[in-house]
Amino acid sequence: MHPRTLARQFAATLAELRETWEVQYWPGGKLPTPVQQNAPQPAETGPQPAPRLPVVDEIRTQAKAWTPAMKLDYLRERNIGDCQRCGLARTRSKIVFGVGNPEAKIVFVGEAPGADEDRQGEPFVGRAGAKLTAWIIALGLTRDDVYIANVLKCRPPGNRDPKPEEVDKCSPFLRAQIRAIAPRVIVALGTHAAMLLSGREEMTLAAMRGAELSYDVEDGAGGTRRIPIVVTDHPAFVLRQEGTEGGALSTERLVMQDLRRALELTQARDDDARAPE
Ligand code: URA
Repeated sequence: MHPRTLARQFAATLAELRETWEVQYWPGGKLPTPVQQNAPQPAETGPQPAPRLPVVDEIRTQAKAWTPAMKLDYLRERNIGDCQRCGLARTRSKIVFGVGNPEAKIVFVGEAPGADEDRQGEPFVGRAGAKLTAWIIALGLTRDDVYIANVLKCRPPGNRDPKPEEVDKCSPFLRAQIRAIAPRVIVALGTHAAMLLSGREEMTLAAMRGAELSYDVEDGAGGTRRIPIVVTDHPAFVLRQEGTEGGALSTERLVMQDLRRALELTQARDDDARAPE
């Protein structure tokens, strides 16, 4: 075979592999039904999907055995890369992907990186981060025991609220992180994370707090697994209460109640998983 033909085939294979994993880590995470090589084609006009290269199916099968850490690495390096999908790419310093244990039982989800996170490339490292870290330690855990991520991976200028189009472009990556980790419980910090993950845009944070909310992920066997969402205040909100009389104390007490509920749910789900059939 001519070297140029070989090079073209190799490039096509790589492009297809990339697309395969974009799909794997895209909304819903559903892999396309493999094209059967000799199956009769539907009598439709219009463009037909290109037949898949056998190597794609092979890699897809292998990837079922990937660890959560491998999936997260792939997502960061290959799917997100040097993301330019929205305008935040022009103003960010670093993409803030997520940090912690890829096999965490609890995933904390915030809103978007602030100035410190943008500089360091790690979520929750500024003042709000110190508050969140203190809450995690109060639960008897460390940041290495849990996983921490945000709805947006890049800082909105001036810490403004995320725009809907930014959430649309970026949230598939958060969904893919959750799918890869498959935690026992998700803690949504503040309204943005709570509304996105629960899909309950009509509810206030006060109504979501304590409500039975959940997030569905594929279980890898064709079904879905329901992950409870515990909604609590964003640490930045609690910090803002510190100037008000008694405000921070009572808000923080409520937060700790929520977080202890999250921990109890994690343990209850561990017990369920260990119980004999
Ligand atoms: N606030 C967030 O929501 N996320 C961070 O990473 C930092 C502050």
